[in-house]
Amino acid sequence: MELSIVGGGPAGLSAGIYAGRLGLESIIFERGMVGGLLREAPWIENYPGEGRISGNELADRMRDHAKEFAEIREGEEVLLVERKGEDFLLKTTSGTYEAKGIIFATGTQRRKLGVPGEEEFLGRGVSYCAVCDGPLFKGKRVAVIGGGNSAAVEALHLKEIGCVVTLIHRRGELRAERALQERMRGISLKLNTRVKEITGDDKVRKLLLEDVVTGRIEEFETDGVFIAVGEEPNSSLAAALGVELEGGGYIKADRTQRTNIPKVYAAGDVTGGPRQVVIACSQGAIAALSAFEDLRVPYWKK
Ligand code: NAP
Repeated sequence: MELSIVGGGPAGLSAGIYAGRLGLESIIFERGMVGGLLREAPWIENYPGEGRISGNELADRMRDHAKEFAEIREGEEVLLVERKGEDFLLKTTSGTYEAKGIIFATGTQRRKLGVPGEEEFLGRGVSYCAVCDGPLFKGKRVAVIGGGNSAAVEALHLKEIGCVVTLIHRRGELRAERALQERMRGISLKLNTRVKEITGDDKVRKLLLEDVVTGRIEEFETDGVFIAVGEEPNSSLAAALGVELEGGGYIKADRTQRTNIPKVYAAGDVTGGPRQVVIACSQGAIAALSAFEDLRVPYWKK
């Protein structure tokens, strides 16, 4: 194959569409479900032309569109990427492939809170995805942990589906954008509050909370905890190949989405910056255009 695209979120799918239209033969490898974290967004309101659309629906549309231009291998994980002469060798859960160029569009994964009880109660009251698990908590009390856009969106979604929501954040103000904060009527806020432990029996019952100003500890009864404390880049595959990373482990890419290794590109959330679907899509497009330029007219051979 000419171009291998690792990751089937918005960046990878957009790269596949552009690569196909440019006549590059490409395969998109996605270890989970195509769409990535986009599927977990209750709604997207800032993707031009779509108005308000669920992340799941937008992901389906992007997948169907990308299928017209690229081969998509859903459920196939790339385990290793190494050099083979001027080209690359990819080992996946299903086979081995050679590629002339690679786009890493591997995205991010949810950060863990790192408190006792978080792992123990996963699936028994602890969740990282309100869209996936929210309906189980209809009419019940839930706590959302975090102060960013994700926490705000998750809290709003849980309220909309009928949960009694408390948003718990470690600082005195949220970092979520104003448009989201303005809609938060009906959601209780606990600021300057740190979660120390998640406790329960067969399921979550309580949180042990610390007021970071007074040091006071309180027990807070809840039926569920939705953790939305940020994301971490999936950059280890690229790093193992020798791709340069920057602060926080994000892949360092220039404005053309090229990395330090010729014919290796990075696009989307794995490169850091504002995590927005439209930005991931545009970076995927730029990466594919750069790959076309390099693979068909290699600039280092001119
Ligand atoms: P984020 O913006 O990095 O926010 C993470 C939040 O979690 C921060 O409030 C942070 O607290 C808190 N936090 C981090 N580590 C913590 C810990 N160990 N314990 C307690 N709290 C902790 O991450 P995000 O909300 O997941 O958003 C990720 C990206 O996606 C952002 O770029 C965001 O804009 C984007 N996004 C956009 C939309 C939208 O456009 N509507 C929706 C969802 C996500 P501090 O504030 O104290 O640092």
